[in-house]
Amino acid sequence: PILRVAILGLGSYGTRVADAMQSCKKAKLVGAISGTPSKLTAWQSKYGIPEKNCYNYETYDAIKNNPDIDAVYIITPNALHKEAAMRVAKAGKHVISEKPMSINAKDAQEMVDACKKAGVKLLVGYRMHYEPKTLEVIRMRNAGEFGKVLFFQGLSGFIIGDPTQWRLNKALSGGGAMMDIGIYSVNGARYMIGEEPIWVTAQEVKTNPEKFKEGIDETITFQLGFPGGAVASCLSTYSLNNLDKFFLDGDKGFAEMQPSTGYGPIQGHTHKGELTQPHITHQTLQMDGMSELIFEGIQPVVPVDGEEAVKDLKIIDAIFEAIKTGKKVALKL
Ligand code: NAD
Repeated sequence: PILRVAILGLGSYGTRVADAMQSCKKAKLVGAISGTPSKLTAWQSKYGIPEKNCYNYETYDAIKNNPDIDAVYIITPNALHKEAAMRVAKAGKHVISEKPMSINAKDAQEMVDACKKAGVKLLVGYRMHYEPKTLEVIRMRNAGEFGKVLFFQGLSGFIIGDPTQWRLNKALSGGGAMMDIGIYSVNGARYMIGEEPIWVTAQEVKTNPEKFKEGIDETITFQLGFPGGAVASCLSTYSLNNLDKFFLDGDKGFAEMQPSTGYGPIQGHTHKGELTQPHITHQTLQMDGMSELIFEGIQPVVPVDGEEAVKDLKIIDAIFEAIKTGKKVALKL
């Protein structure tokens, strides 16, 4: 079967996903949910979406009675993912949420519980978990080609523009660079090392308190410790460009990727040479993969479910706690 998806939140990333879905083989964009009527009519003509599959934020609970939609992909500002996920689950449709799935681990766990109770899947837009070069590095690590992995470096950041955007409004974003871009190093540390961290330390720097208000982190450095002895050392920032880099080192070899999580092409090499896997639009692979997961039970090598997102948010909660207390925070994931 084809996974028939409605997108909720027709902004810049929603549009990117809609475009990428035009090349999907196992998933199809069939519906749209928006508070802006002109966007709904534009999407109807651009993507061939029937009017009966279009809803606004007041009406979309009625999706329950629409047999032509299997899943709703939530692509709104971070703090709004949870409420939408609860409503979609209640309507009996599978939930796909953008990252971060919510703005803290407690909310994330409530989303997991609600979807379980409703008998629907909860998946998160972890597009890197379907990216071929990333998967090759993970394969090499699992095959022991790097030997004992002891170090990961993740650098995630960009210079953010318009100070009035939702990303710099705590009520909508839940945090600053960490929630938005630092999460790539949090998630990346886990899939590159292949273990769950057991402790966190973190430090915050703010050079522009006018632009980055209370609760909006500008720059955070953080370290994660892993049970096998590996450490991760990472940077999350809204004040520097050219930061999209992963480095994984073991006693027999290494992998270096830059860009490591951008829309692509991802580039990188290991001690054995260039990574040559093909570039395929991440969101196309992701949506076909999610269709296989839902209908064929095919699990990706690195999970993309709600529990995976709870882990990232537990780490982010711990990073904020480590900054507040100045102490090393123990983790149990
Ligand atoms: P955006 O501002 O371009 O789009 C957000 C959309 O949400 C807009 O259409 C807006 O109208 C709508 N919206 C609904 N209610 C709103 C409200 N109360 N306030 C503001 N907007 C509201 O943002 P975006 O870049 O598309 O990001 C949306 C989500 O996608 C975020 O959670 C972000 O983290 C995620 N994202 C993921 C990736 C990725 O690579 N996986 C990339 C970019 C964004």
